[in-house]
Amino acid sequence: MSDAEKTDLAIIGGGPGGYVAAIRAAQLGMTVTIIETRSTLGGTCLNVGCIPSKALLNSSEKYAELASGGLADLGITAGKPKLDLAQMMANKDQIVAGLTDGIRLLMRKNKITHIEGRGAITAANTVTITDHAGNQQNLHADRILIATGSEVQPLKDVPIDEIQIVSSTGALALAKVPKRMVVIGGGYIGLEMATVWRRLGAEVEVVEYLPRILPGMDADLASKFKTIMEKQGITFRMGTAVTSAKANKSGVVLNIAPADGGDAEKLTADVVLVAVGRRPYTDGLGLEAMDIKTNDRGRIAVDAHFETSIKGIFAIGDVIDGPMLAHKAEEDGVAAAEIMAGHSGHVDYDLVPGIVYTDPEIATLGKTEEQLKTAGIDYHKGVFPFMANSRARATGHNEGFVKILADAKTDQVLGVHIIGHDAGTLIHECAIAMAFGASSEDIARTCHGHPTLSEAVKEAALAVEGRAIHI
Ligand code: FAD
Repeated sequence: MSDAEKTDLAIIGGGPGGYVAAIRAAQLGMTVTIIETRSTLGGTCLNVGCIPSKALLNSSEKYAELASGGLADLGITAGKPKLDLAQMMANKDQIVAGLTDGIRLLMRKNKITHIEGRGAITAANTVTITDHAGNQQNLHADRILIATGSEVQPLKDVPIDEIQIVSSTGALALAKVPKRMVVIGGGYIGLEMATVWRRLGAEVEVVEYLPRILPGMDADLASKFKTIMEKQGITFRMGTAVTSAKANKSGVVLNIAPADGGDAEKLTADVVLVAVGRRPYTDGLGLEAMDIKTNDRGRIAVDAHFETSIKGIFAIGDVIDGPMLAHKAEEDGVAAAEIMAGHSGHVDYDLVPGIVYTDPEIATLGKTEEQLKTAGIDYHKGVFPFMANSRARATGHNEGFVKILADAKTDQVLGVHIIGHDAGTLIHECAIAMAFGASSEDIARTCHGHPTLSEAVKEAALAVEGRAIHI
């Protein structure tokens, strides 16, 4: 083992939580070392998550638009498009490579030491790093930040081989379009992948244990979305448990049963995607030996300052509580670095947008109607359909609506839920408004450019008091 190097902050994990924390800590004057076991930085998000999935959603959308003759109404016709899946995958890989390399350069620019290897906490101020050849070195750090993220949640008796029974990682790299695909799980990752492969020609069935898709999101929005996905050719089997799956030469056989009991059935597929969630990743970190506490879901327990049960050891991102999203991990990273430097870093977890990048997109922020009802908060609701928005009509993106929920007494905006084209961009004016404690009237009285989809947000705000103009 080589002699101990010294650093102000050792960060274990180079995903959006870890690398963003590294940059912010370096900006604040700390010497920082980031330890990442993958050969590239960027974590799940850049390597096997947000970015490759969005690259495939983009290419598959263009293919499906051409293949369905969807441009004919616009006076544009083209021959039947030919799918070159290998090139589509190569394009995705190139985008990932460019971005992960960009993070490596950002580390260099900010004078952050990057060590490739697996980090384990072996003493209160020591990280032992093992490289891929098995060589070890100790790093002495005033503070340690755990940013080891999450991994795919396995499903009992459904063994993932990443060829026929795949996780999201395998679903991002299939060598050919399956004839029939079963997606286990109606959360956002399952639905984004279902969309990609449906657009490329697969017959796709989503099997979901609960009676609804997108659990936790606004119920109206989820139900509207299911109808739209059905129109796109995706079928759903709700309230159904997958009890086992077995791959053989001719495909995969799944055993399914009604979630609330009843007769079992068999389903077959060429490819099965297991998308039942993600779980925190802490293997080999040394949590038990260091007595770093976790909660009942295996997530590392932290206080309001991101400090674990051991002084000087912090944790952020998917490995702690909160939505498992890249932008949440980044916010955690910035706040944790600022707190360590004596500033007042803070994350408002009520204002973390949740976005599904399908067509139409879904974007949601703040409280849902169900949450407000449960909390006994009286609210007013304004809904405006994109069908009545001129830009949506001009561009053929007229599906969906904007829903704004405001406190019945104060008119403060408490939740915004959008299903529609570019919803993921539209939600951010509401995020800023809500961060400043805006009322629906504040949004309604703000002049919005015409013709824009953003006018639907203004109209939904007007609708809160029953004074929308175009409906
Ligand atoms: P991670 O990104 O998981 O990074 C942790 C890193 O730590 C990994 O690179 C891992 O190799 C490394 N590591 C772990 N243990 C060790 C160790 N002991 N030593 C050294 N290194 C270690 N989120 C969004 O916000 N928007 C999206 O559109 C979106 N799409 C997604 C699509 C898919 C298919 C998936 C799977 C996820 C998606 N996510 C999305 C979620 C997002 O990727 C995660 O929330 C985010 O990456 C979490 O960041 P993190 O830094 O906490 O952890």
